Amino acid sequence: MAKKVLKFGGTSVGTIERILHVAEIIKKEFVAGNEIIAIVSAMAGKTNALINQSKEISNNFNKQELDVLLASGEQVTTALLAGALIEKKVNAKSWLSWQIPILTEGENSNARIINMSIEEINKFLSKKGVVIIPGFQGISKNGQITTIGRGGSDATAVAVAKIFNADTCEIYTDVDGVYSTDPNKIPVAKKIEKISYDEMLELSSLGAKVMQSSAVQTAMMYSIPLEVKSTFTNRQGTKIFNQDNIDYTKSVTGVAYSKDDAKITLIGVEDKPGVAANIFEPLDKEQINVDMVIQNISSDQKTTDLTFTIKRDDLSTALKIIKKNNQIKYKTMSHDDKVSKVSIVGAGMVSTPGVTFRMFRGLAEENINILAISTSEIKLSVIINENNTLKAIKKLHTIFDLD
Ligand code: ADP
Ligand code: ASP
Ligand code: MG
Repeated sequence: MAKKVLKFGGTSVGTIERILHVAEIIKKEFVAGNEIIAIVSAMAGKTNALINQSKEISNNFNKQELDVLLASGEQVTTALLAGALIEKKVNAKSWLSWQIPILTEGENSNARIINMSIEEINKFLSKKGVVIIPGFQGISKNGQITTIGRGGSDATAVAVAKIFNADTCEIYTDVDGVYSTDPNKIPVAKKIEKISYDEMLELSSLGAKVMQSSAVQTAMMYSIPLEVKSTFTNRQGTKIFNQDNIDYTKSVTGVAYSKDDAKITLIGVEDKPGVAANIFEPLDKEQINVDMVIQNISSDQKTTDLTFTIKRDDLSTALKIIKKNNQIKYKTMSHDDKVSKVSIVGAGMVSTPGVTFRMFRGLAEENINILAISTSEIKLSVIINENNTLKAIKKLHTIFDLD
């Protein structure tokens, strides 16, 4: 007998028929003798639809009420799934996050789970009950409903697995595992049998939304092994665990991309100590994160050109901040939000020379201009023109033997 946390994503509970199918999966696991806590997302598309409704009222919809609104999506699927199990003669019961409670800390829409009570649920599990919990939502210590960031049901699942000391945490989704790149975009993508936390964390932070990055981070911190698998097939999924147990035969494990970035270039910035700090400090104060930075010394040796990237959502605020910053002098400012970030990730990169040059050569062969670069030990990201995204992913996928 094992204690299992099973998380079902939006597509997996997207229709009544699918919810009945999920109930069958749970029933099978339960009848096999396991203790089951299931975490559910809202039906696919529901959270977006709710956000759009709030925008019909105001683009500045009250943040607290937005969390109350968004939490409703998961409440619906939680009740439908518990009800479906009861129809199938399984002793199931739902707990909304405020009933447990799942305590969170931090700002609306982006809270973090810090604790939850386990006694009542453990009692129910020991009496042969199946527990259904909504993902994505929590309650603050002031008693306000919170949500924990898009894709957050993964984070709920990992937190529940940790706090309930589960034996497994299985992420059921609409693909049958983690692939070398998004299989819905690049059909020759290959399934990865096992992957380290570090690589998965890089892939998900860089755009592979198959796992939410904060969920991977928590799993890594507490060594909670994860498995990503399909709700719709019985094929073996992908295991995510500690790096020590993986043998690297390839330098690159996967290619990820995102279209969340924007680029700002300042031409003719005065070249003296403190200038970069004067540019970035006011951005930081407004919680605008600068990701990549490139600085070139210009030919007159007195001025420099500075390019940096930020989240696309922050672009208009960042431009305003720079325009009214009288601490800095520059000739012109330009910006571009039609860019994408394409990244290669692989723990095998550490021990393989030449990865950087092969990536740049490959992109050059496709006539793709690199606008900015950033690296870490196990990843290399470039900013390119958005129109070249697919071409770049395909090329990198091929040259690093991932097809
Ligand atoms: P869920 O609703 O189950 O949480 P998501 O839509 O959040 O599912 O994540 C699954 C999707 O992630 C897939 O449908 C796929 O398009 C996308 N995806 C992006 N990168 C990858 C990757 N490297 N491997 C697998 N899926 C990926
Ligand atoms: N429903 C939420 C979202 O769409 C949480 C989740 O699906 O994980 O972001
Ligand atoms: Mg998801």
